[in-house]
Amino acid sequence: MPGAFIEFRGVRKTYDGRTEAVAGLDCRIERGEFLTFLGPSGSGKTTALMMLAGFEQPTGGEVLLNGQSLARVPPHRRNMGVVFQNYALFPHLTVAGNLSFPLTVRSVPADKVRERVQQVLALVRLEGYEQRRPTELSGGQQQRVALARALVFGPDLILMDEPLGALDKQLREQLQIEIKQIQRHLGVTVVYVTHDQSEALAMSDRIALFQSGAMRQLASPRDLYERPASAFVAEFVGQNNRLDGVLQETTAGRCSVRLGDGELLQALNADAAVPGEKVSAWVRPEHIDLQIGPAPADDGQAVKNSLRGQIGELVYHGDHVRAHVALTDGAQIITRCSRAAGKRLRPGAAVTLRFRREDCRVFAQQPEAGA
Ligand code: ADP
Repeated sequence: MPGAFIEFRGVRKTYDGRTEAVAGLDCRIERGEFLTFLGPSGSGKTTALMMLAGFEQPTGGEVLLNGQSLARVPPHRRNMGVVFQNYALFPHLTVAGNLSFPLTVRSVPADKVRERVQQVLALVRLEGYEQRRPTELSGGQQQRVALARALVFGPDLILMDEPLGALDKQLREQLQIEIKQIQRHLGVTVVYVTHDQSEALAMSDRIALFQSGAMRQLASPRDLYERPASAFVAEFVGQNNRLDGVLQETTAGRCSVRLGDGELLQALNADAAVPGEKVSAWVRPEHIDLQIGPAPADDGQAVKNSLRGQIGELVYHGDHVRAHVALTDGAQIITRCSRAAGKRLRPGAAVTLRFRREDCRVFAQQPEAGA
C-alpha cells in the first residue's frame, strides 16, 4: 500500500500524565481529501489536530507527512494553513496587511504579494475590502479573510478547528458550501474539526468519529449515517430511535429481538451480538411509516416490523412534523411525517409504526459511555 499523505500512527497524548486526551489514534488521510474529526466536546479532536499542526507533541506514536515523521519539524516549517476559531486576525492590520503577512515572512517579492492577495480575495469573494480593518468586517467576512490568509501561501494542507462555530446557522450553512467549493477548486487537503454532525455530513469526503480520545469509525458521510458501526455512532450521527431488548436468534447477519412488551422485532445484527444478550435496536425517524389505527392486513413482505403505540406530542418543524409515539412498554419513538400527513394526526391517537428489517440495526448493549 503506498504511503498516505498524512498518517497518525499509534498517536497518544496525555496532558496530566494520567488521562489520555488521544488514546492510540491510527488514521490515514489522502491527498486532496476533506476529512473531518467529528465527536462530542472533549473527545480529543482538537488535540489530534494540534499534533498535526505541531502546536502539541504526541506522548506516544508519531504523525507522518508524506511518509516522514513530523516529530522534529516545528509548526512554521510544516507548510500548513490554519483557520481556528481563536486564531484571530491581526486587529491593527488591514485585510491586505493580514493577507500579505504570511507571504512577506516567506520573503515573497512585493509584486507577487499583491497578485496573490488579489487572487485569494477573489476566491473568498472579498474584492474591494483590502483597506478594511477586521473590526469593520462582519463575523462571516472575518472568517473568509482567515480562510484567505490560510490559503495565500499555497499550502498543501489546511487545518480548520470549528471555523464556523461563532456564526449563526444561515451564514454557517452558506460558508460550509463556499469552503467546500474552494477546497474542490484548489484540490487542497483539509482536516476539519467540528462537533456539529450536520456540518460534518455536509462537507466531508470522510469523517473520523471520536469518542473518549479514540476513533470509533472512519467512513464516508453516507456510510456513517446508513451503516453506523456501534450504538454510539448510531446515536451521535443524525436522529435515531433506540429500542431495548434481548437477542433471540441470529443467522447470516439477520436477527430477531424480543422487546420489553413481548413484541418480536426483525432486524440486522450489526455487531455480532449473540442470543440471550441485551441489545439495542436503532431505527431512524424517516424510516418509520406511521399509520392511524391497526396495521393493514395486506402487509407486503418488505415490512417486517409493526409496533403499536399512542401519539404523545406532535412537533411542527415547518417542512415536516415529528410525532412522538409511546409504545406499550413505555419506549418513546420519534417519527417524521410530511406536513400533509401530520395534519391528520392528533395527540392520543392509537397508531401503528411500521419499518423494514433492513432499516433496523442491532448492537450489543454497552455500559453508558460518556464523551
Ligand atoms: P475536543 O476538541 O474533542 O473538544 P480536546 O482535544 O480539546 O477535545 O480535549 C480532549 C481532552 O483533553 C479533554 O478532556 C480536555 O479537557 C483535555 N485538554 C485539552 N487541552 C488541554 C490542555 N492544554 N491542558 C490540559 N488538558 C487539556
